[in-house]
Amino acid sequence: MEAEPDRAETTCCVVGAGPAGVILALLLARKGVAVTLLEAHDNFDRDFRGDTIHPSVLELLDEIGLAESLHQLPHAKISTGTLMTPDGPVVLGDFRRLRTRFPYIMMIPQKDFLAFVAGEAKRYPSFRLLMGARVEALVEEGGVMRGVVYEDDAGKTELRAGLTVGADGRGSRVRHLGGFEQVKTSPPMDILWFRVPRLAADPDGGMAFIGGGHILVMLNRGVQWQCANVILKGSSSQVRAAGLEALRRDLAEVAPSYAERFQSLNDWRQVSMLSVESSRVKRWFKPGLLLIGDAAHVMSPVGGVGINYAIMDAAEAANVLAAPLGAGTLGEGHLREVQRRREWPTRLIQALQTRIQRRVIAAALDPRRTFRVPLVLRLLLRLPVLRNLPARLIGLGFKRVHVER
Ligand SMILES: Cc1cc2nc3c(=O)[nH]c(=O)nc-3n(C[C@H](O)[C@H](O)[C@H](O)COP(=O)(O)OP(=O)(O)OC[C@H]3O[C@@H](n4cnc5c(N)ncnc54)[C@H](O)[C@@H]3O)c2cc1C
Repeated sequence: MEAEPDRAETTCCVVGAGPAGVILALLLARKGVAVTLLEAHDNFDRDFRGDTIHPSVLELLDEIGLAESLHQLPHAKISTGTLMTPDGPVVLGDFRRLRTRFPYIMMIPQKDFLAFVAGEAKRYPSFRLLMGARVEALVEEGGVMRGVVYEDDAGKTELRAGLTVGADGRGSRVRHLGGFEQVKTSPPMDILWFRVPRLAADPDGGMAFIGGGHILVMLNRGVQWQCANVILKGSSSQVRAAGLEALRRDLAEVAPSYAERFQSLNDWRQVSMLSVESSRVKRWFKPGLLLIGDAAHVMSPVGGVGINYAIMDAAEAANVLAAPLGAGTLGEGHLREVQRRREWPTRLIQALQTRIQRRVIAAALDPRRTFRVPLVLRLLLRLPVLRNLPARLIGLGFKRVHVER
């Protein structure tokens, strides 16, 4: 017979210590709400999960006095995003033109960012972080979610909570257990991630090379370039079968000035495959349960905004929920309000990403077509009023979120 799980209690149980989970837990703990953050992994180590911290997130951290200390950690800054086309470079976004204290994208290993935020949260007595604690089930009573059952080295524990937040990412177990319905779109691409050496004399912005049916994005990570090679959806096995020599050749073809760097790729273990998805749930909540971040909406990598949107969800959720959680008056209306504030910016950016995928990426990945920057984009980048729009949307999003007092 299986042993009865141990029992524990908290006010808010946050499942998943990714960007959304750690920020929500920190903001709630700051306001004195008892919060337990459960993370399935034993550490924050994670590669190729996005290392981009956008101006909007830096502003948010600044509001709670953490931006300066985050900047003490080793990081790189990206101030411009340039599209390298067969017709020459086109500056797509110049973050230096944005009205913000932080006119750049900060590149910092995600593990360092998560450890930093969790470290700050630990200063508050109402915060508890359990690593290696995997959520296996939801506790439901009379149609209301009352917490979770998690498993760690000590066995199973039933953690009861006034609110459970699923911040457990794109393959969310909480979303699955809660029976949430997802609306999916099908982006036409997958991505191969890898790193190559970066030299001091290299440009310091982010670059996207387009040509010959290839798209290669290179992001400054200090002594390395983090590279995303965009390939047609479902073609990764073909790319692998063709071999590393063919991959190096393709990369050199699209970015000839970096051909020598691609020689450092000599083992498939250096290459990590991302199956690109895009989806969102129709309803972000049920009684006693809320989804945020990738659990609520898996973002396409176009624009690299997944972390940004996950953190904005967390900040808005803390704004709406801290007081009723503290007072024990949380109701469905509060959860609905979180969705109301965050759904429209998410839907807008996803609609834009879908358009770019169809109009630009699908065309660029077609080797039979010669890529040309769409006329609308060329015009937009020439008009002084509109040319800051791409940097604004990537750096600050459709809606700026502030930490409410
Ligand atoms: C290869 C790759 C590259 C990316 N690059 C970028 C980029 O450059 N910029 C960008 O903005 N976004 C990028 N993204 C997207 C970005 O990583 C996500 O949008 C963002 O991490 C979402 O944050 P989150 O907190 O919602 O979920 P996640 O970061 O996925 O965190 C979820 C956490 O929940 C934990 N968890 C899962 N299941 C359980 C369970 N049952 N119990 C307990 N814990 C659990 C996981 O271990 C994880 O730590 C990338 C994604 C991938 C996959």
